Amino acid sequence: MSTVDSTTEKSNGAPEGDVADEMSALGIDASESKFSLELSDDQRDIQEWVHGFAEQTVRPAAHEWDEKEEFPWPIVQEAAKIGLYGFEAIAQFWADESGLTFPIVNEELFWGDAGIGMSIFGTTLAVAGIYSAGTPDQMVEWVPQCFGTPDDPKVGAFCASEPDAGSDVSALRTTAKYDEGKDEWVLNGQKAWATNGGIASVHVVIASVDRELGARGHAAFVIPPGTKGCEQGAKVKKHGIRASHTADVHLDDCRIPGSCLLGGKEKLDEKLARAREGKSSKGQAAMRTFELSRPTVGAQAVGIARAAYEYSLEYAKERETWGRKIIENQSIAFTLADMKMEIDAARLLVWRAAWMGRTGQDFNNAEGSMSKLKAGEVAVWSTERAIQILGGNGYTREFPVERMHRDAKIYTIFEGTSEIQRLVISRAISGMQIK
Ligand SMILES: Cc1cc2nc3c(=O)[nH]c(=O)nc-3n(C[C@H](O)[C@H](O)[C@H](O)COP(=O)(O)OP(=O)(O)OC[C@H]3O[C@@H](n4cnc5c(N)ncnc54)[C@H](O)[C@@H]3O)c2cc1C
Repeated sequence: MSTVDSTTEKSNGAPEGDVADEMSALGIDASESKFSLELSDDQRDIQEWVHGFAEQTVRPAAHEWDEKEEFPWPIVQEAAKIGLYGFEAIAQFWADESGLTFPIVNEELFWGDAGIGMSIFGTTLAVAGIYSAGTPDQMVEWVPQCFGTPDDPKVGAFCASEPDAGSDVSALRTTAKYDEGKDEWVLNGQKAWATNGGIASVHVVIASVDRELGARGHAAFVIPPGTKGCEQGAKVKKHGIRASHTADVHLDDCRIPGSCLLGGKEKLDEKLARAREGKSSKGQAAMRTFELSRPTVGAQAVGIARAAYEYSLEYAKERETWGRKIIENQSIAFTLADMKMEIDAARLLVWRAAWMGRTGQDFNNAEGSMSKLKAGEVAVWSTERAIQILGGNGYTREFPVERMHRDAKIYTIFEGTSEIQRLVISRAISGMQIK
């Protein structure tokens, strides 16, 4: 898939032909231009490779796993075998200096199917948790264990939300108490809606070490595979992404070694001391972590929206009423034009935020949140419009746009609801505590 029309550009992104002549007449050396939206050869190769997997392996399996509402282990195994699922692959995608490869990979995979896509990439939530809070040694120890091996793939889970603490994570009640004699942490509480919760080999858990400090008293822990006291609770029956496993996780006197505190005890003690003295927090760092991860989630939503757009475009070109193709009616054609425009706009916001994150720019206007907000809402709107274009067929489970619409809805809820994204953006642009 080519997302950018490159007919007027050389492979290095410089224009050719009439455009180049005009620029030259103005004394502009186009080959000096650093700005380009053209993908590199590497990015295109990865895009085509993931697209092939999404088209040949993921999409044909989508309906079956959605109906079964079970975790698609055989597909995750296939992804591991071809090297798409594993820490080396994630490291390679992250290494891209432009920041675009990871969103591109996510868009293609979720174009195939979002439920299976989340089953394959839900682990990256746990990896992001380890990456943002862990020491280099902890990353080396735990990230590979989140993925397992190509012959025996595993998954990771990130558990922050609780029944009474979703948007408001500061309200979480899970506690972690330090047993100094044994150098162990003891965790107690209930986590809710955890992607891969209970089936993961590694769980990353956010718990409170000092309730009085609210969010500043939180710490992140790794629960090693097979730890006693960490059990799956009820599996959640969902509206969409039904192949992805979502469940409560119960922590009952769950004892883990002291070394499982991400970042280490010394760093935690310093953080708590600063908070108790009322000194400024590193809230900016936490916000930056969200801004970095949100474009990836946005890219997944773009993938779903594009899948629904492409399907409904083809359908509208085939389906006839009153002796003509339905696309010949402006109302249908204009809807498709708007869908294409909105999806491209969402992708550009995603790419901008991904590029900003990778190149160390400040998210002064919460550009990461903007990208996720726009992409999530475009996905919900486009998939709903796709159902409308397919009419009665669109409403049935025999056609995929109905599933895509159910899948899209989660993108206005998890990783920060649309309201929370608007809150973050409005606070960033105003500098005020908007409530
Ligand atoms: C399928 C699925 C997978 C998930 N995976 C994970 C996971 O892997 N790990 C994890 O930790 N969590 C996960 N979650 C939880 C998810 O992140 C939360 O559901 C989400 O953050 C919303 O929290 P809530 O459900 O408690 O809603 P609430 O916080 O109760 O919000 C309810 C409504 O009130 C609005 N609202 C709340 N506060 C404000 C405010 N201040 N201003 C304006 N509006 C407000 C919200 O936008 C929303 O519309 C998952 C959830 C689902 C459904």
